[in-house]
Amino acid sequence: MITIRKKLVPDIQANKVTYGKANTRKFIVVHETDNTRLGADADAHARLQYNGNSRSASWHYTVDDKEAVQSFEHAWRCWAAGSNTGNNEGIQIEVCVNSDGNYQKAMQNAAELVAKVMKDENIPIQNVVQHNHFSGKNCPRNMREGKILWSKFITMVKNASGNAQQQKLAIDNNKYRVLTGTYGTRQAAENVLDVLKHRFGWVVYIEPDGAKWRIKTGTFTGMAVAQAGANKIKTAKLAKVTNIVAE
Ligand SMILES: [Zn+2]
Repeated sequence: MITIRKKLVPDIQANKVTYGKANTRKFIVVHETDNTRLGADADAHARLQYNGNSRSASWHYTVDDKEAVQSFEHAWRCWAAGSNTGNNEGIQIEVCVNSDGNYQKAMQNAAELVAKVMKDENIPIQNVVQHNHFSGKNCPRNMREGKILWSKFITMVKNASGNAQQQKLAIDNNKYRVLTGTYGTRQAAENVLDVLKHRFGWVVYIEPDGAKWRIKTGTFTGMAVAQAGANKIKTAKLAKVTNIVAE
């Protein structure tokens, strides 16, 4: 899974190299940096933008074989596509081609990033396009020359979207209960029970534990929900210790 790091260009600089905000986010535009120098990776390009790119150009993300770095929020209308439509309506992704990088891996990461942006912005796969689509420029160059076919790349994006979908479907339907640590008296446990029952609206029980008492909740569906329940107990300072147990 690709990691996405933000190194956002400060607004004062962003205003100099974009048309400002109000990007309609209809397209995802794929580019290659055309920069084969050693070390010309995502971090280097993100720093270039961050430190004030001397060229009149800007783009949202740079991806290499290790990570993606975001330089602009999607709302910015970056200057990358060579046409007003492309710049005003597109989210621009530059894929690194540094000679010390792995091009195939960078494209795999780009596919995962595209899949994520599609999902976040509700952009259909038909609107994932090459820079060439807007201005006729030979970009992304290697891809256009067949190093990875565009059709293959689109399949990679679809697969990445499918995986994301599957991860979403693989939801945790297991049941869990939250147990508190022990209270010295039954009354102390009763006080907590009262809050959980009446303020939180939960099903809760008191259980003896040796000479002490603890609270056991009804079941939560999924570890994340149980964890949220345990956090709620702690935030309300009703218990110092909580344990989550599978049902
Ligand atoms: Zn381009």
